[in-house]
Amino acid sequence: MTIVRHNVPISELTSFKNQGQVKQVVTFETVSDIQSFLKDAPEYFILGRGSNTVIDPATSMPCFAQVSPAITPATCNKNRLQVSAGTPVNKLMTLLQEFGVSGLEFCAGVPASVGGMIAMNFGCFGHWMADFVEKVRVITETGDDRWISVSELELGYRTSIFHSKKWIIVEAIFNLVADDPVTIKKRSHDFVRTRSEKQPLRDKTFGSIFKNPAGHFAAQLIQSAGYKGYQIGDTQISDRHANFMINKGSATFEEILDILEKIQHDVTAKHQIDLELEVKLIS
Ligand SMILES: Cc1cc2nc3c(=O)[nH]c(=O)nc-3n(C[C@H](O)[C@H](O)[C@H](O)COP(=O)(O)OP(=O)(O)OC[C@H]3O[C@@H](n4cnc5c(N)ncnc54)[C@H](O)[C@@H]3O)c2cc1C
Repeated sequence: MTIVRHNVPISELTSFKNQGQVKQVVTFETVSDIQSFLKDAPEYFILGRGSNTVIDPATSMPCFAQVSPAITPATCNKNRLQVSAGTPVNKLMTLLQEFGVSGLEFCAGVPASVGGMIAMNFGCFGHWMADFVEKVRVITETGDDRWISVSELELGYRTSIFHSKKWIIVEAIFNLVADDPVTIKKRSHDFVRTRSEKQPLRDKTFGSIFKNPAGHFAAQLIQSAGYKGYQIGDTQISDRHANFMINKGSATFEEILDILEKIQHDVTAKHQIDLELEVKLIS
């Protein structure tokens, strides 16, 4: 069954939790729900856990679509973990321990989903989703149900085939290695601790604002342009990590845009480098 909700607060859909609502959110509980939806679909945006997405409450997007974590069951066969696209990272960490398989612990602590992490080729601490994905099951825009191998996913720095094709990821198979559950748990906790030393993990944020330009760190460029800790209204550039934006309470989409434009302008003026957004702005 497809669950349909109207006038859904953005705070329930994204980790930045800015003010406002969206008109409609649909959640697919079965593959045939997706196929039926696509037969007569309005324009839609596929949303994972919204940890790389900011939504303008005045958006013209009529529909946001999500894949339920329960759309397919989690299984593991010979260290090949099969999980649904809607699986949140905290559940993924539990599954690694339950099945005694290791590799994806570097994702621990991030409020993302498996589908969003594949679409973004999530990476950190020298690891990428691309290192572990074997294949991905997608529903194409015409409703075809296909498995796509990793070599066809066009996984690159924060990019994939899902940026050019409107395919919906249903589930994925990851090639992992057997390990002891206690060691896996400890490793996940260590990654969370390391991450929280560098990033404002407890705040409402969407992760990196800009991609790192070749040979540079976006955070350093933003800091050198004087924006670390900069604040308009309830929207702040983190004073811990200058490539993170924080919602201090009632952040608005206008404040976000205002700060992004100022940073892009000043970094270009000072360094002759154009910063490219990593976050998806849906307006
Ligand atoms: C505290 C914090 C730390 C972070 N650290 C990192 C980091 O270290 N490295 C990193 O790479 N990112 C990081 N991020 C950013 C973010 O978590 C990643 O980009 C993540 O991959 C987004 O997953 P999501 O499910 O939230 O996706 P969303 O934000 O919901 O969507 C992101 C993109 O994926 C697409 N998508 C989502 N689900 C599907 C699906 N089922 N089928 C097809 N397309 C889909 C969306 O359409 C969109 O284009 C961080 C974010 C936060 C809040």
